[in-house]
Amino acid sequence: MRLTFPHMGTLFIPLKALFTGLGCDVVVPPPTSKRTLEIGVKHCPEFACLPLKISVGNLSEALDLGADTVIMAGGVGPCRFGFYGELQKEILLDMGYDFRMVVIDPPQGRARHILESFKSLFPAVTLSQALHAARLAWSKIVAIDRLESLANRSRALERERGAVSAALGRALEAVDAAETVEGVWQACEDGLAAIDSLVDADKAEYAAGSLVRVAVVGEIYVVLEPFANHCVERKLGELGVIVERPLSISHWLKLNVLLDFLNMSGGFRPGELARPYLGHTVGGHGRETVASAVKYGRQGYDGVIQVAPFTCMPEIVAESVLHRVSKDHGIASMSLVVDEQTGEAGVVTRLEAFVDMIRRRRLAYGAVSQRLTAKNAMCYYD
Ligand code: SF4
Repeated sequence: MRLTFPHMGTLFIPLKALFTGLGCDVVVPPPTSKRTLEIGVKHCPEFACLPLKISVGNLSEALDLGADTVIMAGGVGPCRFGFYGELQKEILLDMGYDFRMVVIDPPQGRARHILESFKSLFPAVTLSQALHAARLAWSKIVAIDRLESLANRSRALERERGAVSAALGRALEAVDAAETVEGVWQACEDGLAAIDSLVDADKAEYAAGSLVRVAVVGEIYVVLEPFANHCVERKLGELGVIVERPLSISHWLKLNVLLDFLNMSGGFRPGELARPYLGHTVGGHGRETVASAVKYGRQGYDGVIQVAPFTCMPEIVAESVLHRVSKDHGIASMSLVVDEQTGEAGVVTRLEAFVDMIRRRRLAYGAVSQRLTAKNAMCYYD
């Protein structure tokens, strides 16, 4: 079996470790590129959302490299994601590929379904082999999240433009190459130290606590896939912004697989935070987007940037209430909607304008925490 899956940021690193550990020959699609997108755009319906177009391009490129089995996550809820697997299969069959498609649906408390899917795929794998592969993959997920999170907080303070991103790239390569859990931890620690060493902690802005802090939220695919979001985290960091990204692979897996597997919610309750603005789930990560904006507003962040694919229903709903969240919590918000027509220059201009607006607001009214205590602060947002 030559197995493949679509890209979503660095997700290929743990998936490769998992499936290789289960005895598969893994074909990782080539990095997402303009060509990948062109394949998707050519073969998908025009109004399909961007993640579908890019993932069809990824799978086509992997099938061209000899993959014969496609693994795809399934979904439930009101958005189109639940239909993706079937749609991708039909599109790729129309393109003339011969392959097997396996869609793994969220367990929703019924662990048996997911175990049966895995058993049918890997009948000869023993339990200890599966646990070993899962442990290695999980360690890579945790390492990637730690590295990316530190890089997002460090770019604003790097001595040399681009140095943190380069160190992050090297660290991710080392995590990818590690074959044991100990090797992964070592690669992670080395990477964290390398990123740390590039930071100028004496920078005046840092010392004065005046660096702008922005959270990047939105639809999980475009949040995690730099090709789709035009490297928004890196661009913000290089504009001198401390970036926080609540969505990560480990967060998604904990919420949608592990806790779902056990039918539990864990400590994260987006429903409670979002309730004053959005009283029910709207599919995708729409409710999480609103909840995160509330959370970072309460924590005194300067801004929240929602990234979403054009025509993404859950994020359209979230966007409609973000303005109220912004007014109530004194956090600036911006929605960056992307599709295949989105140009790099337009994204850069909007990010620069957003950060400039926050800096001017800070100069005029002080940091968010000060503004919220001032009686006349809210008039600025009205
Ligand atoms: S969440 Fe949005 S982008 Fe993702 S599948 Fe649903 S509609 Fe498409």
